[in-house]
Amino acid sequence: MNDSLNVLILSQNDYKENDALVKTFSLEKGIVTFIAKGLLKSESKNASACMPFSESTLTYDDKEGSGLQILHSASLITSHRVLREDLNKQTIMTIICELTEQLLKDNYDPSLSQDIYKVVQQCIATLEKTDKYAHVMTYFLVSSLIWLGVEPQVDECTLCGDNQINSLSMDEGGFICVNCQKEIQSTIYTTEFLYAFRIVNKVTYDNFERYLNYKKPEKILVDILYEFMKYHTNISLKSWVFIEKWSIIN
Ligand SMILES: [Zn+2]
Repeated sequence: MNDSLNVLILSQNDYKENDALVKTFSLEKGIVTFIAKGLLKSESKNASACMPFSESTLTYDDKEGSGLQILHSASLITSHRVLREDLNKQTIMTIICELTEQLLKDNYDPSLSQDIYKVVQQCIATLEKTDKYAHVMTYFLVSSLIWLGVEPQVDECTLCGDNQINSLSMDEGGFICVNCQKEIQSTIYTTEFLYAFRIVNKVTYDNFERYLNYKKPEKILVDILYEFMKYHTNISLKSWVFIEKWSIIN
């Protein structure tokens, strides 16, 4: 019996000999890894449909309960080639794909999958038509913090509820007021930076288009969001090193 699945290709890795492991994300199944036999041979018919960031229809015989399936064939729906041809776009997409896998790998939750799918599609569409890498990166990180249930408190002091904010604490999970800062000695930031941090943490699917008109988020803001996620969850991304190396955010 042939099963078929429409997927976004997250990544492709060498497996053995000419075989590859293709990680996919779909609404129906969340994260599924396929063994693609002979994919690395030059004559492979499935090669273009298994390129990272492509959307494709895959056929296979579903082995119930297995996270590893054997691919029969792959046909391309949308190539999203521009995301692979620009190094900066490729970097952001690689991070988004790795994070998507981390968010869903241990628990397939249909409603979470749907939320992530919508946001990933929005990021892809934006990267295809603009150069707003930093906006897209911050948006996906902020969305992930919410999905993980560890979003920073940015409406008031996380310790006492006061509104006179001058600091941000990783440990306490958000904004800190002038008085509490004196006690816990958390890092002080400029009002401008704290304002930008608050704005980005309010970005959602519905207001993202408007957020694209805001000035480009600084590298330090992107870094703090990532550090925040690492601090409060066990997620750490191998692909993050590419942002450091190419410093594409600034
Ligand atoms: Zn306080």
